[in-house]
Amino acid sequence: MRITAIRSIAVPLQGAISNSLVNFSEHTVSLVAVVSDVIRDGRPVTGYAFNSIGRYAQDGLMRERFIPRLLAAAPEDILNDAKDAFCPGRAAAVMMRNEKPGGHGDRAAAIGALELAFWDLNAKLLDEPAYCTIARQAGRSPENASTAVYAAGGYYYDSGDARARLKAEFEQYRAQGFVKFKMKIGGAPLAEDLARIDAALTVAGDGANLAVDANGRFDLATALAYARALKPYRLRWFEEIGDPLDYDLNRQVAQAYEGRIATGENLFSLPDVNNLLRFAGLRADRDILQMDAGLSYGLTEYMRMVNAVEAAGHSRRCLHPHGGHLINLHIAIGLGLGGCEAYPGVFQPFGGYPEVCKLGDGMASATSAPGFGLEQKRELAPFIATLANAG
Ligand code: MG
Repeated sequence: MRITAIRSIAVPLQGAISNSLVNFSEHTVSLVAVVSDVIRDGRPVTGYAFNSIGRYAQDGLMRERFIPRLLAAAPEDILNDAKDAFCPGRAAAVMMRNEKPGGHGDRAAAIGALELAFWDLNAKLLDEPAYCTIARQAGRSPENASTAVYAAGGYYYDSGDARARLKAEFEQYRAQGFVKFKMKIGGAPLAEDLARIDAALTVAGDGANLAVDANGRFDLATALAYARALKPYRLRWFEEIGDPLDYDLNRQVAQAYEGRIATGENLFSLPDVNNLLRFAGLRADRDILQMDAGLSYGLTEYMRMVNAVEAAGHSRRCLHPHGGHLINLHIAIGLGLGGCEAYPGVFQPFGGYPEVCKLGDGMASATSAPGFGLEQKRELAPFIATLANAG
């Protein structure tokens, strides 16, 4: 069994929306195909994945370094010991040949996309949904095919009445079956953000159903001012308060703010997560961790992070991967995490789930489609077809 071709394309994200720092109108995502020599129904079994949302495509890195290394590897270098499945971790190790440690950045997302495609491929070879393959690999058996999800949105739009648009957006999510929501803060003055939170709460109901995300924007003084103002709302969590690597800022806010803090989506390696666990003052009884396999070398590295989180005394239920897409839905179900983010209305063609995924009471279910089932997502299917037909 071997890989015959690997392809990638950069797919633009749709929609002109912004968080406190980034406008996504020029963002792209790398969609990849890993083609095997196993033929079923006249077509090669192919793994598809992408590198999550928010970090641009990495086609140059893939084309110049990681795809050539995979294609040059001996077939057995990327197979498991029994040689009956590909080994995503070994594929990641092959891609990391001649790479120095540290400085993770875009490299971690490029390798993440390709590593995840091997999981999709393995699940398809077994003709089962990816969460089953993931659970088996982790020595678990999922109780069911669903997990808790929350609707992430509430961005800063470039036109219209901001509060009315926010309310209308959350009403749409509620009609789709979501009961918990997340919105952006830090892109407007504090008083305006508080008015936006009030507007969101008219849909979310209780503060426990609403999280806020500052996208790493705040310095310590601003973070503490927001923490003081947010306290009476008793929100679900306060996310990515300062720079993702400023663990001491996080520690100081955690001392002043008794509500939940969420962070980790912009940490791309196990050593970074270990430092977060050591130095950021996280509280095992409440805080939330949002690392994302597609941005951090793939699921093998993510599973090492889960082990580190548990070894530090936190429950895996505190893990809610960032990204809002189908791949992380399978990962959350397969690993028994606390849930995951969902982007039901934004970041197409990648955000959210196919219509056939059951959604209700704040839970989302994976379908029985083999692999991650990305082909079932109507918005994504034409791009997958482009990759499939490029050979
Ligand atoms: Mg976030």
